[in-house]
Formats: sequence, C-alpha cells, structure tokens
Amino acid sequence: MRIKKGDSVLVTTGKDAGKKGKVLRVIPDKNRVVIEGVNRVKKHQKPSRSLPQGGILKIETPLNASNVMLVCSRCNKPTRIAHKIMENGEKARICKQCGEALD
Ligand SMILES: [Zn+2]
Repeated sequence: MRIKKGDSVLVTTGKDAGKKGKVLRVIPDKNRVVIEGVNRVKKHQKPSRSLPQGGILKIETPLNASNVMLVCSRCNKPTRIAHKIMENGEKARICKQCGEALD
C-alpha cells in the first residue's frame, strides 16, 4: 500500500474525480482508502436518547486506492511514488515530480 493515513490525495476516477482530501483511514486488506469529504453518503439514523429527532449522518465510505493519486506535500502536485532505500536502511517514498522524500 503506497498511501498512508494523513496523506493528501487527489481522486482520479469515479463521481468524486478531481476532489482532494486527506486520508482518514487505509484498509490494506481490501486496498481501500477513506478520504475526508470524498465518497460521502447520507445515512439515516433512528431517533435515540442523544438524538431524539433522529437524523441524517454523512459518512465517508472507502474507495479503491487505485482511484487516487498522492499529492506531494512539498510541491503540491499529484504524483507517482518511487521507493528508495535510505542510508539507515529504511524505505522512503519519493515524489517523482520534485524528488523529495515524503515521509
Ligand atoms: Zn513533490
């Protein structure tokens, strides 16, 4: 999984194409991501003690990770990711646009 929680991403396909948002959650098993403000659905909630009128909740549903592109935090462009092994042996993600490490 190339995308991590807290990353900024751009949606490239689907009804929310063109939207940018922050990754709230990643589900690596299903290759899915939940993005703030993207793929929102309304969910009706039954009245409860804390919400006597009931209500409509807007919740973000996961979308496929292949439908989003990472937005580089350095150059602010949607980018593909390269991987590089750093001197300390750790893997870093590198922006292919500007060459900066993203982590
Ligand atoms: Zn960049």
